[in-house]
Amino acid sequence: MNQLLSLGKFSFGMGDRFGHQGKAQLQACILATQLGAEVVPVWNKSNREHSFIGTEPSSLRAEADAAVQTLGWEKSYHVDADHIRLETVDRFITPSDFFTIDVADSIGKPANAADVKAFVDRHPELIGQISIPHIDQPISISRAEIERVANKFLLAVQDAGKIYRHIAQAKGEANFITEVSMDETDSPQTPHELLIILAALADEKIPLQTIAPKFTGRFNKGVDYVGDIRQFEKEFNEDLAVIAFAIGKYGLPATLKLSVHSGSDKFSIYEPMRRALKKFDAGVHIKTAGTTWLEELIGLAEAGGDGLAIAQEIYAYAIEHVDEFCAPYATVIDINKAKLPTAAAVNGWTSSQFVSALRHDQSNPQFNPSFRQLLHVSFKVAAKKGDRYLDALKKHEAIIAKNVTENLFERHMKPLLLGGSQKQPAKGTSRLEPVNA
Ligand SMILES: [Zn+2]
Repeated sequence: MNQLLSLGKFSFGMGDRFGHQGKAQLQACILATQLGAEVVPVWNKSNREHSFIGTEPSSLRAEADAAVQTLGWEKSYHVDADHIRLETVDRFITPSDFFTIDVADSIGKPANAADVKAFVDRHPELIGQISIPHIDQPISISRAEIERVANKFLLAVQDAGKIYRHIAQAKGEANFITEVSMDETDSPQTPHELLIILAALADEKIPLQTIAPKFTGRFNKGVDYVGDIRQFEKEFNEDLAVIAFAIGKYGLPATLKLSVHSGSDKFSIYEPMRRALKKFDAGVHIKTAGTTWLEELIGLAEAGGDGLAIAQEIYAYAIEHVDEFCAPYATVIDINKAKLPTAAAVNGWTSSQFVSALRHDQSNPQFNPSFRQLLHVSFKVAAKKGDRYLDALKKHEAIIAKNVTENLFERHMKPLLLGGSQKQPAKGTSRLEPVNA
């Protein structure tokens, strides 16, 4: 095989639902790169998002190419077919060079008994005590435990293999980046389950570069992490240790890293993640997609006049359809309905009131996480407005772009990759490693 298209150490999956923020998003990557944390932009959009908005995957490729050309970005960038399955992948094959193979639906469905037995027989090294560098206690796995994990995950891994080979046949196996996602499922995967899953993915000969497990805690849409941060940190560190170990043990690509499907804005775990990445000298892929759509609304509201009016209309429609819009996202939102303002109240708000309620600034007493989560899942409403919404994005491009760039750079890239105190970029230098304060 030719040399595998490889993914850089730090990469950001930035969704752009309406396709107008590519330049503003890329600008955030440029700023981070100038400060020494080279961020590879990845534009991701799922089949569901394309369907809700009525776009084709090729539009995302066009947007990414245009942003890159306009801003003169000469480093790598990718277009991710996010959360695809065998039945949805085909229209993504030409425009995408990154595929997030979603096999969560097959988790928990038992694989063929003979396949499970063959897997366990093939992996005697997984039975007993396994010492993994940087994990304090050796992991202890019994044959029965491997069987249990195989029964839960082997079918999903086999599905990933089928989808991978389908894409490889059409595109050529060296020409794309493969992610396997298992995040949209009920229970988190433990580090030792991750090890067994990686062994199985290696058996399928998938040149896996990112894996998205489900982590402990709640990753609600557009708001901060809810859960035990110390437990998250412990498991995140152990996952990094398992990945480093599995790369050597199973011959997986050296670029393999975790992909964190964050649901956006998990500010309180960025610092523990940064510490862990530094400790392991590991990379990470972080998907923080929906946050940009909310910055569009913030920019429109901040613009006032017709911009604020359209933001208010979107909320009024969303609150009227709150149950319908929230149902598909039940496992990834926690909205307190009592905290949702009425449409009439919001229609009376000033720009600053709307922005304060929506912008993810937890130090602002006006910030309203229920309001923010409802709007996060209501992008369909903006899609329904069609050209009126898109025209508003064009008319208020400058103020929206400022919010989009600042949000990604200041609130996401800086804390995750650069840490506390910021150094100004020195002219003419380009450090490739992150600056760790
Ligand atoms: Zn996901």
